[in-house]
Amino acid sequence: MQSFLVGSAILGLFLWAQPVHAQAPAKTVERLYILNCGEGDAPDQSRWSPGVNVGKRLDVVDNCYLIRHPQGNLMWDTGVGDAVAAMPEGRAGQSGAPTWRLARTLAAQLAEIGLKPSDIRYVAVSHTHPDHIGNVELFPQAMLLVQKAEYEWPSPLGVGRFKPEHPATKLEGDHDVFGDGSITILSTPGHTPGHQSLLVKLPKTGAVLLSGDAVHFKDNWENRRVPSQNVDKDKTAASMQRMADLMALNSAQLWINHDKAQSESQRKAPEFYE
Ligand SMILES: [Zn+2]
Repeated sequence: MQSFLVGSAILGLFLWAQPVHAQAPAKTVERLYILNCGEGDAPDQSRWSPGVNVGKRLDVVDNCYLIRHPQGNLMWDTGVGDAVAAMPEGRAGQSGAPTWRLARTLAAQLAEIGLKPSDIRYVAVSHTHPDHIGNVELFPQAMLLVQKAEYEWPSPLGVGRFKPEHPATKLEGDHDVFGDGSITILSTPGHTPGHQSLLVKLPKTGAVLLSGDAVHFKDNWENRRVPSQNVDKDKTAASMQRMADLMALNSAQLWINHDKAQSESQRKAPEFYE
């Protein structure tokens, strides 16, 4: 009996001593915020869906995403640019592109969740169209994560797509941002030469694939439609298939940057996903 009690006491001490490392901070994504980086409308949806909904107005959103990770904050896409917030009528679209409005600056939305632009370690953009790179220079110290093919894509104005002094990592394919598999840039060319998407593995929500403009809205995704302005139709189709395969592999949701209906069902900053 006595040896049983002693044994139990020893066992109890042993068990009590166990959960030491359970209090270590989580070494993975902590939070993902969806920020409203623009709202727009375009006169003819068929610019994005050739032959479908010709002449029908298209309403879109332009979301940005802030991801908190123990090794640093990552901004995914930067929206239309905070200067648009001061334009009462918004910034008019050219050649059928959306007219963009901005209700609140990105800087103000970041401040609301306790962040200054200098707190951002990485800025990754899906591509270099103006509704995605509008605020890149709000973060002059942040490391740009961009495909080399996009960085070097000749611009219509004959100038660089980024300021040459902005720190940049020019990627050639997929990239595991923090080396732990939690945030992975995926090469998804076609909309532009170096388009990329982002796979984020959230501890509670699960895996989420942020589309960029590999697809613009759900109906185009379901029907695998390719907008007429994309630089490469075959590569766009291949990228969509690759995304579908990776979503199946990771049980990932698809969050479509410009899809207004989907966006209205999602929580926006200061609320977040974890
Ligand atoms: Zn876009």
